[in-house]
Amino acid sequence: MGNKQTTFTAEQLEAFQDCTFFTREEILRLHGRYRELAPHLVPLDYSNNPDTRLPPALIVSMPELKENPFRDRIVETFSEDGRGNLSFNDFVDMFSALSETSPRELKTIYAFRIYDFNRDHFICQEDLQEVLQQLTGGELSREEVLLVCDKSLEEADLDGDRRLSFSDFQNMVSKAPDFLSNFHVRI
Ligand code: CA
Repeated sequence: MGNKQTTFTAEQLEAFQDCTFFTREEILRLHGRYRELAPHLVPLDYSNNPDTRLPPALIVSMPELKENPFRDRIVETFSEDGRGNLSFNDFVDMFSALSETSPRELKTIYAFRIYDFNRDHFICQEDLQEVLQQLTGGELSREEVLLVCDKSLEEADLDGDRRLSFSDFQNMVSKAPDFLSNFHVRI
């Protein structure tokens, strides 16, 4: 007991618990997972908030993410620097939003950001084609993707501007929960 090393202060752990869906033990386990990706870069002691970020290539190699067709966009979306590098805070926020306890409304917000490939705050036809291509794992031909894309747009685009606003997207997700299926990750 006497030589047990501190990773976080009690205040830090409380703050993580307040802002995420994780328990104290889970936060510590996540730190272990983050650290094992790059033991030479990630210190054991986080009590002084070290400015460490891990590159996206390391994060997407995790078994929880590596089969996910949206892994690169997921990591980019949660990276504070926007380039996919993740601090431990970013890392925890990401797995918290993806966790099974995270509410559907929150997942919908992140799914919208992730699917907005060109980041113009709308899901346009090209974004949706990309999403469908990845969701169906290339099983549909280009023509089929276009067809499904047209049909989804037709049904969800309530104001008829040929692109989905966030509220259009909420409406679509409520009818087709498959659009959230890649955003449940257990770590
Ligand atoms: Ca867009």
